[in-house]
Amino acid sequence: MAKIAINIATGSLQQEEMIVGIDLGTTNSLVAIIHPETKQAVALKEHNTSSLVPSVIHFDENGNIVVGEEAKNQLISQPQNTIFSAKRLMGKSYDDIKTNASFFSYKVIDDNTDSLVKVQVGSKFYTPIDLSSFILKELKQRAEHILKTPVNKAVITVPAYFNDAQRQATRDAGKLAGLDVLRIVNEPTAASLAYGIGMNKEEEKTIAVYDLGGGTFDISILKISNGVFEVLSTNGDTYLGGDDMDKAIVHYWLEKAGLTEADLVSNKEFAQALRLKAEEAKIALSSQEEFISELNGDTLSLSKAQFETLIQPLVDKTVTCCKNALKDAELKKQDIDVIVMVGGSTRVPLVKQSISNFFGKPVNDSVNPDEVVALGAAIQSDILAGNNKDVLLLDVTPLSLGIETMGGLMDVLIPRNSKIPSKASRQYTTQKDGQGGMRISVFQGERDMVKDNRRLAEFNLTGIPGMPAGLPKVEVSFMINADGILSVKAKELRSGVEQSIDVKSQYGLTDEDLEKMLLDSITHAKDDIALRALVEARTEAEQLLTTTEKFIQKNTALLSKEEMITTAAAMQALQLAITMEDKDLVHTKIEELNNISRPYAERIMDEAIAVAMKGRTV
Ligand code: ADP
Ligand code: MG
Repeated sequence: MAKIAINIATGSLQQEEMIVGIDLGTTNSLVAIIHPETKQAVALKEHNTSSLVPSVIHFDENGNIVVGEEAKNQLISQPQNTIFSAKRLMGKSYDDIKTNASFFSYKVIDDNTDSLVKVQVGSKFYTPIDLSSFILKELKQRAEHILKTPVNKAVITVPAYFNDAQRQATRDAGKLAGLDVLRIVNEPTAASLAYGIGMNKEEEKTIAVYDLGGGTFDISILKISNGVFEVLSTNGDTYLGGDDMDKAIVHYWLEKAGLTEADLVSNKEFAQALRLKAEEAKIALSSQEEFISELNGDTLSLSKAQFETLIQPLVDKTVTCCKNALKDAELKKQDIDVIVMVGGSTRVPLVKQSISNFFGKPVNDSVNPDEVVALGAAIQSDILAGNNKDVLLLDVTPLSLGIETMGGLMDVLIPRNSKIPSKASRQYTTQKDGQGGMRISVFQGERDMVKDNRRLAEFNLTGIPGMPAGLPKVEVSFMINADGILSVKAKELRSGVEQSIDVKSQYGLTDEDLEKMLLDSITHAKDDIALRALVEARTEAEQLLTTTEKFIQKNTALLSKEEMITTAAAMQALQLAITMEDKDLVHTKIEELNNISRPYAERIMDEAIAVAMKGRTV
């Protein structure tokens, strides 16, 4: 029997499967969609509840996993079984986070400091990917419950500064949660879209996206032209956010009560209770002048003025980051057309004022700062669904792009996840004397050997004038334009001969292809390193054999018979090592041949120089 999905929100039949936008936040996460009828982005929520799902996971005694508000309530009573800020651990090792380890009131495993971090709950271990997948699963279920339709496809946002490992981890978390992650999108890009910036192809704007959340701060400078988002710079602090404001309040109250940090360590429940009170105070002070409450019979109070004194250093730090971001983007404050405020902590009046003062213009805060990223993600997913063909969505390259070099090695010119548009060039030279042409083979993929990657194009640079090997300078340039089209140019700089080609199939990969290629690069990483080492050794050996042979031919008369014999023997040994495919042996034999040839090579060179010098003085 066929199932017909009915959208409860609109009462209409659900025609197509819906792609949702997800903001997977450090503190709060949420789902948004494009409303099928109003065509506006809306955050999903049950009646009379918040759209925000706290990114908190609680493991109860029966092995059940609870996510969201209910889990957040357990932070006080069961800190060891209740995980918050898991996003801060994504793609991190214990070494990366150890200076802040005391911040986590749950157990972060510290036995193997180099490998990726794990969290221990009871007798079980969880990776940050597992933990994020629990949050995503909860979001998926909530969305399905609200929409009354299966939700299998999503766009998930990540901070612009997330590296490959962190983006991949986010994708994996989505997969574990049963979501097909169509795209990982930068949070500032999403936030801009939610303000409608970039939806009009003609418009050209420079924007600063200031995102102060619970655990992290980042500022991104984006340039939008022709419907394309280019990240000019990012800056920030992954340990600066609303949590730090809470901490500052906690310390203030501790000091006032004559307590110390040690009192928190010895009583984790008290620590968490105080932390939540501090957050309550902070939120209250965004709209009132004074906060008064009590905990365990003691009065807790804080004035807005006192609060602002406490957080002034934090706000100043964010301003410094803004300065640095502008500097990196080679822009002045006046060049910024729009300032977009993102994250719950931008509700703090002092934050808004300081940023507006710094840039010298009012900030954009009309869209709910908690929801703005998710709303933008929903807009992105709508574009991906093909409902808005005017907007281009090429912000990063999905796979590395490079050319084949000696020995079949992949030489990457534009790494995966590079911002688009993008440019890169590198110089190469010839291997043979008088070589008149050079084949340029363009590949895409993450493996070290080109044969394991995907060939995109190939062409010959011909007409290089005859020169000794190593003399020509062939510059190969890659350029990806705003339409995602890669053009490759090769130019011999001494003679000016050049050749170029456009590669249009760059995005012709299905998601499965892409996934497989990325997965392959992980599973084969070890093999690849070994193989690369061997190929490099072999290439070096072959070059040494060629130069040695040339040298001997040219200088036969100047060599002793013994030198000739030992050299020939060492060359033969090296040749043998190459055929045995033993990298260490190849290196040993290279060394041996070098040791034999170096003394006479130096002698002959010295003689040649002496002759030349003499000639000159005559
Ligand atoms: P994240 O992106 O890290 O998930 P959010 O954007 O959801 O974070 O921001 C969460 C932070 O915003 C928390 O520290 C929370 O205390 C803070 N916050 C929420 N509302 C307010 C408010 N009205 N005033 C000040 N801070 C707030
Ligand atoms: Mg956020």
